[in-house]
Amino acid sequence: SEYPLKRQSEFSWRIDPFGKMRVPGIVYADEQLIEAMDDKVFEQLCNVATLPGIVQAAYAMPDAHWGYGFPIGGVAAFDADQGGVVSAGGVGFDISCGVRALRTGLTVDEIESRRTALADALYRHVPVGVGSTGRIHLNEKGMNAMLLGGARWAVEQGYGEPADLEHIEERGCMQGADPGEISARARKRQQDEMGTLGSGNHYLEVQRVAEIYDPEIATAFGLRENDAVVFIHCGSRGLGHQIGTEFLKYMVLAASSHHIELPDRELACAPINSELGQAYLGAMRAAINCAFANRQIITHLTRQVFAEVLPQADLTLLFDVSHNTCKLETHTVEGRKRKLYVHRKGATRAFGPGHPDIPETLRAVGQPVLIGGSMGTESHILAGSSQGEELSFNSACHGAGRAMSRHQATKRWRGRSVVDELGARGIVIRSPSMRGVAEEAPGAYKDVRAVVDAAQSAGLARKVARVEPLVCIKG
Ligand code: 5GP
Ligand code: MN
Ligand code: MN
Repeated sequence: SEYPLKRQSEFSWRIDPFGKMRVPGIVYADEQLIEAMDDKVFEQLCNVATLPGIVQAAYAMPDAHWGYGFPIGGVAAFDADQGGVVSAGGVGFDISCGVRALRTGLTVDEIESRRTALADALYRHVPVGVGSTGRIHLNEKGMNAMLLGGARWAVEQGYGEPADLEHIEERGCMQGADPGEISARARKRQQDEMGTLGSGNHYLEVQRVAEIYDPEIATAFGLRENDAVVFIHCGSRGLGHQIGTEFLKYMVLAASSHHIELPDRELACAPINSELGQAYLGAMRAAINCAFANRQIITHLTRQVFAEVLPQADLTLLFDVSHNTCKLETHTVEGRKRKLYVHRKGATRAFGPGHPDIPETLRAVGQPVLIGGSMGTESHILAGSSQGEELSFNSACHGAGRAMSRHQATKRWRGRSVVDELGARGIVIRSPSMRGVAEEAPGAYKDVRAVVDAAQSAGLARKVARVEPLVCIKG
């Protein structure tokens, strides 16, 4: 790399401030992951480190890859009282994209004979693909209630159970949402899209718990080897994307009036204590509620399918956590408690044992951290660590991370062959887009095992269980 990376420990690398950097850049990874990382990640990390009010360091997780302005797998915290900023590109376009994990109450043996029927029924019942619409059509009043209520609204509408809410970040309802900041265009894009998976890397997967790494935490998570579990990965659909697009433009236009110098226009941001900063936070929080509600409705649809195909199933929520957000959190920095706006873009919040914001039943062991691999490889369940606060404001990786662009992947693989090859290995794929499958071919991603091993070795989180795909409904 042409960047001056210094190894500060076996699993962490540091770029000391140079030029306009206010803080260092820190990357958590092993040597191989670092070598494979695009220099663009280091460039973007250094750019983030120049932003006003940034605290401690700009971080990159082991799955980091090049993104819009901020790297995906990037973490940065800002202090509002020191001119700190909020950035639309630092959250990402799919606001509150995240993963929800469900236990099914079934073992793999119990679903094996019904596997294809399950895949077909899920594919029929859960809307998936570009611009897919659901059965829910929101009028103005319903839209506002959803934007304020999140998963709590969804439960009130009959999607799922009140007990689900206990196992969602923020209890499924993000405070401080401001529907007044959501444009007509964003509303229009979302009015028919509730309860839809979307396209690309979004998926609904039935998986087998293949290995338990930490029996004590796994017991607290209610996971045993050979259990069947479900992962749902999706976000705030058209609404989040529209908000990201609009506010990015506003932030670019307002930068000079806020006296912010942008090394890259994609880093557009606004002071947290500005009208625009507050407007974005209000809109972003409404989009977080949209994502919570969306995953809640999809959970309901998934339960309906299981009830039909495998009536003995009992789907309960392990956890639901986002990986594209900016959240106000209290963190100890150099011995002092501070309130910081933590951007996590393609990075999972990972609160350690005892953190008050973890559901009571899980508090002793740490927050579940849900990491997708790809449709053809393992995925992982980790738990937040105590050291995580000091290392990364309690953040960990969010996936394997892309190893090549979508475009490169479509040149290398054909969707049909990927589906057939995975089928031969016993993995049932259902997708409306063979191009999408090619873009998402397992080989287009990094080695997820190396990524979670690095996250664990660096101290960001603890490995709890490895899961392997049985059925993947892919956007
Ligand atoms: P992102 O949030 O950046 O869109 O994707 C998160 C991660 O999900 C990716 O880095 C990738 O490792 C993982 N992923 C993408 N597609 C799939 C899939 O079909 N199944 C699973 N289990 N993981 C996936
Ligand atoms: Mn995501
Ligand atoms: Mn997403």
